[in-house]
Amino acid sequence: MNILVVEDEKSISAVLKAYLQQEGFHVSTVGNGLAGLEMFKENQYDLVLLDLMLPGISGEDVCREIRKISSVPIIMLTAKVEEDDKIKGLGLGADDYIAKPFSPREVVARVRAVLRRTASATAPLADVLTYDNGLTIDNIKHQVLLDGEQVLLTPTEFRILGVIAKYPGRVYSRSQLLEIVQGHDSGAEERVIDAHIKKIRHKIERIPSDPKIVITVYGVGYKFNPQRE
Ligand code: CA
Repeated sequence: MNILVVEDEKSISAVLKAYLQQEGFHVSTVGNGLAGLEMFKENQYDLVLLDLMLPGISGEDVCREIRKISSVPIIMLTAKVEEDDKIKGLGLGADDYIAKPFSPREVVARVRAVLRRTASATAPLADVLTYDNGLTIDNIKHQVLLDGEQVLLTPTEFRILGVIAKYPGRVYSRSQLLEIVQGHDSGAEERVIDAHIKKIRHKIERIPSDPKIVITVYGVGYKFNPQRE
């Protein structure tokens, strides 16, 4: 497993590298955003640890650039909790956020959790799934088509849809979906899922206010309806 650490504070990146190497990861470190982006394009990484405050281009921009070309798991390192909340609201497409100061042990645990989650959310799926409701989910290209037209979903929206569509009819609770998209101890609230579902519906439902594909199961959560109604 190759991990790229983009962090300008050498003491932090050195500690992260030492801990992650001890856990068997191969770790590359880089001290600024532009060089980090170049390294990302030239090599294969399984996960990126990305500091928010970087010289040159910010972690925010690095994250956006990476998301244009890859769905690699990204964990953002933010300077303080308030910043952490603000950044979450931006919907940059990071998979997790860790506020400084953090313990290296915590980072290792979060890295493992994100890798587990992203692997379980995507790996067992068939390459391309087509449903009677008009939806096609392409897990290789990370594309969703509705009646042949491409629908642009964020990585989180793609993951939620992929999970509920994997077993049509099966009901997923908000806490299950939250664990899949944000990790167990993220402290995020379950209504975050409702917000993601709302956005997904606006993109894939023919009438978003009368959803036929992503169905609410009152008091429980959501399920995927593969049939066209
Ligand atoms: Ca920094």
